[in-house]
Amino acid sequence: MTKSDKKYSLNVPYVQAIIDAGGLPLCIPFGIEEDADQLTNTIDGLLLTGGVDIHPHFFNEEPHPKLGEVSLERDQVEIALAKAALEKKLPIFAICRGIQLLNIVLGGNLYQDINAQFEGEPLLHSQKAERHQASHFVTINSESLLFKIIGNDRIAVNSLHHQAVKDVPNVLLLTAKSSDGIVEALELKDYPFCIAVQWHPEEMAVAGDEHSKALFAAFIEACNRFKLSTSNASL
Ligand code: MN
Repeated sequence: MTKSDKKYSLNVPYVQAIIDAGGLPLCIPFGIEEDADQLTNTIDGLLLTGGVDIHPHFFNEEPHPKLGEVSLERDQVEIALAKAALEKKLPIFAICRGIQLLNIVLGGNLYQDINAQFEGEPLLHSQKAERHQASHFVTINSESLLFKIIGNDRIAVNSLHHQAVKDVPNVLLLTAKSSDGIVEALELKDYPFCIAVQWHPEEMAVAGDEHSKALFAAFIEACNRFKLSTSNASL
């Protein structure tokens, strides 16, 4: 969502993929960061969606000339929600900007622009193909929850990002990379369900891709398990 035009916007596939997987999506506005703790008591999982760049001050850097649009309001509310969700061990599914936000919240940093800052020879990560079409391959760590869900150690994914995760804190497991070495997926160690991907499974899921649908199904399953565990605890 951006606030520059005084309107919120969110790509429909995020919402549709949750509905298709049997979940009930709720969109959270900006400006409620002080109530993030209370709000996370009322939800069963947190989906961190894609969007504009994260302000580099959140990882102690000055803005690079290739930094894109940022939204401080959005950064603030999402960082507060992610921290509150992590504290409660809520299921978290983080997509694109979401993987970057999760990495920062846990102490990591980003390439503000892959083409300007990545040390290797990057692939095309800002694909020209349609949003739901797979573009490059990722290799998946066979020890990961991601592998368990997808059941394959190499899949083709779409790619719509100019930033990427750089240094990964120890609490996160690097679970997928593209062939140029860019981080494409992470998950939180010793945590019920916290999966982060740099690609856009919501676009591929609504277009019928089975791997992407399996990811959303696994997230909603984790949300249902979370709900059950908290309702049992309150009996
Ligand atoms: Mn990519």
